[in-house]
Amino acid sequence: MGDGAKTCAVVLGGSLAGLFAARVLADVYDEVLVVDRDVITGVEGPRRGCPQSRHINGLLARGQLAMEEMYPGITEELFADGVPTGDLAGNVRWYFNGKPIKQKHAGLVCVAASRPKLEFHIRERTSALPNVTFAERHDILGLETTVDNSRVTGVRVQPLGDEDGGAVGAEQVINADLVVDATGRGSRTPIWLEALGYPRVEETRTKIGLGYVTQHYKLTADPYDGDLSINPVASPDLPRGAIFTKTDGGRVELTTYGILGDHPPTDQEGLYEWVKSLAVPDIYDALQHAEPLDEPVAFRFPTTLRRRYEKMTRFPDGLLVTGDAVCCFNPVYAQGMTVAALGALTIRDHLHTGAVPDPFQYFADLAGKVIDPPWEMTHTVDLSFPGVEGDRTPQVKMAQAFLRLVQIAATRDGTVAAAYMRGAGLIDGPEALMRPPMLARILWNAMPWNKAAEAQSRRRQSAPVGKDKTPVS
Ligand SMILES: Cc1cc2nc3c(=O)[nH]c(=O)nc-3n(C[C@H](O)[C@H](O)[C@H](O)COP(=O)(O)OP(=O)(O)OC[C@H]3O[C@@H](n4cnc5c(N)ncnc54)[C@H](O)[C@@H]3O)c2cc1C
Repeated sequence: MGDGAKTCAVVLGGSLAGLFAARVLADVYDEVLVVDRDVITGVEGPRRGCPQSRHINGLLARGQLAMEEMYPGITEELFADGVPTGDLAGNVRWYFNGKPIKQKHAGLVCVAASRPKLEFHIRERTSALPNVTFAERHDILGLETTVDNSRVTGVRVQPLGDEDGGAVGAEQVINADLVVDATGRGSRTPIWLEALGYPRVEETRTKIGLGYVTQHYKLTADPYDGDLSINPVASPDLPRGAIFTKTDGGRVELTTYGILGDHPPTDQEGLYEWVKSLAVPDIYDALQHAEPLDEPVAFRFPTTLRRRYEKMTRFPDGLLVTGDAVCCFNPVYAQGMTVAALGALTIRDHLHTGAVPDPFQYFADLAGKVIDPPWEMTHTVDLSFPGVEGDRTPQVKMAQAFLRLVQIAATRDGTVAAAYMRGAGLIDGPEALMRPPMLARILWNAMPWNKAAEAQSRRRQSAPVGKDKTPVS
């Protein structure tokens, strides 16, 4: 592979970032090989190399659009396979600071697929491309380079045998014109580069001490009243959160979470008690009519992590990095898959007419156009929790104060709520909330001396939520 006239790209890691990358590379390279240590083709359930597949992986509206751009018709395909859908602002019951925000349709398509279902469909579509193949059950050992280490020429891999402990094969070299690392958080590119004489990539981490516990249920009574999901979001005063969402297979997926060591327990009674302690009773009430389908499963996420490849002054040709291998966001904000999809579109933009992308230009675009906006947005929110360590600059404090106003206004005004969700869904940048008419709306609705808004809010909160679902004008 990679020899002769045929061009070859090798993608390290066959999870979502790797599949998205393979999809765009297939347009330009004669052969695209995806390497993963798991069996992945045909897999419909959670797998070892992707432990987050046991937990809710929500897809943001921008991610759905990017996915559709790469795989036309994929959204309809998922719906046809039993994935529930709705509008992220109109059909999700969001609670911020314990208060429901107004529900209003905002044109934000919500694909409530379980992570294994989403990955299965993306993988099927990717593997249907005639020039994409998979090397499954292969451990990736390191990079191959030219003698002067200035260009990556391939990878070293080792067949692992079958999952029941089959014999490990001999090390092999796969030659490639381009290698794309999509091996996730545990990516060894930083170590490999250092061993090749490059500087160690700078890393930024924020300690959040996040703990997830997830369980699936069959409901015997429907608590949703036409909605798709009930999401009490953690806030500094109410730091426990949950997502309780309909998903494929007629099941309901519950992910509960707490930060800085306040983690949900994994025993059944303990988990119910923890859910009872949430700021809103909706989920606990719904669990009175729910049969567990599996055991609660935990996941610990100690820190966010960003690898600053864009700051490197030396980097070999023939190598790119994408997905969680570059940036692991606090998963509560559901940005990773969307950023992985946007990362693939960035690779596509740099493929030009088959030339190997310039890594410096690629990393600069990935950082500036794709990662910076969601990273800054969610880092600001993380820092609103007093126990999270970090630099609270005047800019961060101003952004936190503004966000608080937006959240208050969103409990009273559906247009503000829809605009807020368009920002959170990465459809609009934060500047959309700053435009004069929207800013005026936010300030009018958020001000405590605005008695009209206060009274209106009380009237609306005494009415059942989910009633104002008219489209945004
Ligand atoms: C608990 C949790 C919840 C999350 N929730 C959300 C959410 O709600 N919404 C959202 O958008 N994102 C969420 N994310 C993030 C999302 O899962 C990732 O952004 C997404 O999977 C893309 O990751 P990736 O493909 O870069 O890496 P991964 O999904 O980590 O995949 C890495 C792949 O590389 C393979 N691999 C690694 N090392 C080797 C090796 N040496 N040899 C061979 N194969 C190897 C693994 O087997 C795996 O298949 C969540 C993450 C976590 C941890």
